[in-house]
Amino acid sequence: DRIISGLSQPDEERQDRAIRPKRLAEYIGQQELRTQMEIFIQAATARREALDHVLIFGPPGLGKTTLANIIATEMCVNIRQTSGPVLEKAGDLAALLTNLETHDVLFIDEIHRLSPAVEEILYPAMEDYQLDLMIGEGPAARSIKLDLPPFTLVGATTRAGLLTSPLRDRFGIVQRLEFYTIDELASIVTRSAKVLGIHIEPQGAYEIARRSRGTPRIANRLLRRVRDYAEVKANGVINDIISVQALDMLRVDTNGFDALDRKLLMAMIDNFSGGPVGLDTLSAAINEERGTIEDVLEPYLLQQGFIMRTPRGRVVTQQAYLHFGLKVPKSVGL
Ligand code: ADP
Repeated sequence: DRIISGLSQPDEERQDRAIRPKRLAEYIGQQELRTQMEIFIQAATARREALDHVLIFGPPGLGKTTLANIIATEMCVNIRQTSGPVLEKAGDLAALLTNLETHDVLFIDEIHRLSPAVEEILYPAMEDYQLDLMIGEGPAARSIKLDLPPFTLVGATTRAGLLTSPLRDRFGIVQRLEFYTIDELASIVTRSAKVLGIHIEPQGAYEIARRSRGTPRIANRLLRRVRDYAEVKANGVINDIISVQALDMLRVDTNGFDALDRKLLMAMIDNFSGGPVGLDTLSAAINEERGTIEDVLEPYLLQQGFIMRTPRGRVVTQQAYLHFGLKVPKSVGL
C-alpha cells in the first residue's frame, strides 16, 4: 500500500476507468511506440486482418493495460482480459480462445506467469490459429484440433527477460514502455484533472509530476490525494503551494522516493558500504521480496542513476550519497 507503488491498489481500477485514455491520440508520451502502433493498426485494418500479436513490457503503472484496450478500440474489436496466474489449466485458456470473435484482442497480463501446460496451448494458437487439446487420460486420451478465428494476443510483462524464448519469438510486435518525462506526466495530471473536474494550476501539476517516479498510475494517485488536501485545507484549487504541502505530508520527496526507497538506499550505504551487494542479500536486509525489489523499486532507481547493476551485484552511485547529504567515499564512481 505504498502511495508511490506502480501497482494498482484496491478500488483504483474503478476510479481509473474515467481517466484512462481510450484512443491512441489521448495516450500521452511514448512517441515512438505511438507512431509505430498507428501504422501497424492502420495497415492491419486496411488489409482486414487481425493485428500481429503484441508484447508490451515495462514496469507496473506505465500503461500496458491501457495500451491493450486502446489497440482493441482502434481495431474496432472486443477485448477479453485475463492474466497468467489466473489461467491454471489448459482448459481455462481453451475456453477463452474458443469464445473469441474474428480479430478480437485477447489480453494476458503477467504473461510470464503462465504455466508450461497453458503456454504450450498458446503456441499453435498464436502461430496457426489452432487449438490442440488433449482430452481424457491414459489409453483413452485423444487429441482434438479446433480452428480458431484470427485474433491478436496482447501480452504484458514487467520484464521481457522473464519470458521463455519460444513464447517471445511468437510476437510480431514487441513494445517497451519507458518511464515518462516530467512534462509528459504534467500533461497526464492536467488531463486527468480536467476529466475529474479538478481545478489545477500548471505549477501544481508540475509538482505532482516531478514526484511521480515517471509513472502515470502514481501521478493520477497523487493527484487524487492532493485534491483531498486542497479541498480540506484550502478552496479546492491545486496550486504549487498546496501541491508541495500535500506531497510533503504524504512523505513523497522531490525525487518521488518514499520510505522504502530510502530504506533500500540507506541499507546499501550503511550495511554494505555502497555495494556491490547481491539481490538476495539485499532482500533479506530490508525484508522485502526479491521480486518487489527487481520489478517495483529498482527500475526507477536505476533509470534515475541512483544505483547501478554490475556483474558482482548492485552498487549505489554518487548521486545517492548526495541525495542524503552524505560525504561521497573515494571508491564511489559517478
Ligand atoms: P499497467 O497495465 O502498465 O500497470 P495501466 O495501463 O493500468 O498500467 O495504467 C495505469 C494508469 O495510468 C491508467 O489508469 C491510465 O489512466 C494512466 N496512463 C497510463 N498510460 C498513460 C498514458 N500514456 N497517457 C495517459 N494516461 C496513462
